[in-house]
Amino acid sequence: MSDEGFEQEFVKEAFDTGWITPLGKNVTEFENEFAQKVGVSNAAALTTGTAAIHLALKSAGVGKGDIVFCPTLTFSASANPILYLNAIPVFIDSDLTTWNMSASSLEKAFKKFPDVKAVLVVHLYGLSTDMDKILDICKNKNVPVIEDAAESLGAYYKGQHTGTFGDLGIFSFNGNKIITTSGGGMVVSEDSEKIAKIKFWATQSRDKARHYQHSEMGYNYRMSNVLAGIGRGQLKVLDKRVAKKKYIFEFYKRELAHLDGLEFMPINKWNEPNYWLSCILLKGKVKPLQIMEALEKDNIESRPVWKPMHLQPFFEKYEVIDGEISQYLFENGVCLPSDTHMTDEDLERVCITIKELWK
Ligand SMILES: *Cc1c(COP(=O)(O)O)cnc(C)c1O
Repeated sequence: MSDEGFEQEFVKEAFDTGWITPLGKNVTEFENEFAQKVGVSNAAALTTGTAAIHLALKSAGVGKGDIVFCPTLTFSASANPILYLNAIPVFIDSDLTTWNMSASSLEKAFKKFPDVKAVLVVHLYGLSTDMDKILDICKNKNVPVIEDAAESLGAYYKGQHTGTFGDLGIFSFNGNKIITTSGGGMVVSEDSEKIAKIKFWATQSRDKARHYQHSEMGYNYRMSNVLAGIGRGQLKVLDKRVAKKKYIFEFYKRELAHLDGLEFMPINKWNEPNYWLSCILLKGKVKPLQIMEALEKDNIESRPVWKPMHLQPFFEKYEVIDGEISQYLFENGVCLPSDTHMTDEDLERVCITIKELWK
């Protein structure tokens, strides 16, 4: 799992100092180093990105019966924590220029649900939402913004790190993300009290007392010291990973961009993505399934773009504002293999297989 070896050092330290307990030096240091890396004042390391979304929403005051706006084009982990809190998701469409939350659909949503409690935005595939537009709308209405930056560690919007614009931002270190602790998450905020409260909830809401005393419901969501050691090592290779992901994207672009009806995911001039996955959109006669099947024959895995929440059996009973663009992206998008271990030969093989379909 480790391609660079910094992890062993920190994990060994956790063992050597007897801190194989939930809390210890690696957790605090990982939080500090992470906060510094993304340019924010406070961070709390948790067990998963999903747990981070759960406590960020709770911190924003979301509770029973509250409405939360959430993009429909995302992974289900963005939406599930809304339900953990017995709140109600309203799904918002994407726009074609960012693949992320559409400002015009968001405006419509505010007209229909003016008493919304929080807005969750997602930076899909390491692209960024057009934050200025979204923040303008939300600040105007005085509604807190939470950023799901699970896929966008290392991605910037107008020079500022994604996940640091909202009241709270979350990140994930799940196995499939750009850096990983095998499982883990982080909440960040400029508000130190919010982060202190999240750490309190995440450690079973133990009051300051010698005996075990609880005045609030608690969670067991704190990251372990050993995994935080892995995180510290992984953080050191983030820039290298982003560079490799960008190399992969540019390789595909060089080889495939000329194909009729094939377009790449939108890179806006204000966006410095982390290129977590290289995604394409098919507008001509070659369809996503043909590409996925051709690659599969060659034992290469590729995936469709996320299936929108409003088309999911479990979530379809909730309201969606627009939704056609997200559905279009799902039906016509493909995520190409983007693992940082891929060699030029691997990338070449993918490109040859795809180009065959145009012959
Ligand atoms: C991975 C992911 C999450 C959840 O993170 P976990 O650490 O796996 O719980 C949330 N949102 C998005 C958009 C993700 O891709």
